[in-house]
Amino acid sequence: MKIIPLKIPTPFYVGDVNVYVIREDPITLIDVGPKTPEAFASLSDQLGRHGLGFSDIRRIILTHSHEDHCGLTKRVRDAAGNADVFIHKWETGHLSGRLASDEHQRLLIRCGVPLNVFEGLRSMYEEISLLSDSLAHSEMNELTDEMEIEFDGGSLKVLHTPGHTPGSCSFIREADRTIFSGDCVLKRITPNPVVAPDPLDPNRRFPSLSEYLVSLARVRSFAPTLIYGGHGEKVIDFEELFHRYLRAIEERQKAVVSLVTAEGITAYDVAKVLFAASFDADVHRFLAISEAIAHLDHAVSLGKIGIESAGDVEYYTK
Ligand SMILES: [Zn+2]
Repeated sequence: MKIIPLKIPTPFYVGDVNVYVIREDPITLIDVGPKTPEAFASLSDQLGRHGLGFSDIRRIILTHSHEDHCGLTKRVRDAAGNADVFIHKWETGHLSGRLASDEHQRLLIRCGVPLNVFEGLRSMYEEISLLSDSLAHSEMNELTDEMEIEFDGGSLKVLHTPGHTPGSCSFIREADRTIFSGDCVLKRITPNPVVAPDPLDPNRRFPSLSEYLVSLARVRSFAPTLIYGGHGEKVIDFEELFHRYLRAIEERQKAVVSLVTAEGITAYDVAKVLFAASFDADVHRFLAISEAIAHLDHAVSLGKIGIESAGDVEYYTK
């Protein structure tokens, strides 16, 4: 299977996003990049250097619905003329309503986020959401776990690997155990479990870190030889990276649990202490709050701490 990795610029702190061309019939893109003129021009240029144009693209497969990965979908699809778009169904609602929805507001207020801080996060998100065009439900095809994506020269199997987002998917070529992981596995960064409503019950939080650990174990069960992540270099030493992730998660669990008191503390206050250094910019603040929530909920699920409600706000307790 001929794989062409491309690097597409993004305006985000994370830097470039990786886009992969599968040069087999039907020619397929895994992710597309953010909706910026620079990203579109770069994608066009790089395809051109491989003798390809948008009209050659027949299929777009999305690992998840974050703007740096999916923003250009509509433009690329329209430029291609006739390409099918695939994404997990748990990503689509998320795509159209992140932080705009009442569920999201309730969810963050319940974690102790003050209303004025939430408003700041929402306007940050409104800006970020300009980096993506939304598509109607009818314009997307659903990725389901274990589904085979067929090519003339082989196939990719879908692995639903929730954690970073509820509907994050990876794709494995079983013949040589190559995996495209989106943001589930990244060479230099431990992926952030982003706070989201549970797709099965929007009034609850998605247990992102607990799910993420299951996804990591699942990826490991395939003994991958090569992983193409959504950012950064490819991973050829997943076993080592897996243990590094586990150690980092274990350390953070300890730090988070040590901040929980008998009287109780909100996830927001834990985030403020834990990530004091990066609490200034809204986007970092949002990721810090996400991380705190993910770790606190995971600690609750392991029975390390408890959780109690007082009015609309939840407190984690020793
Ligand atoms: Zn992402």
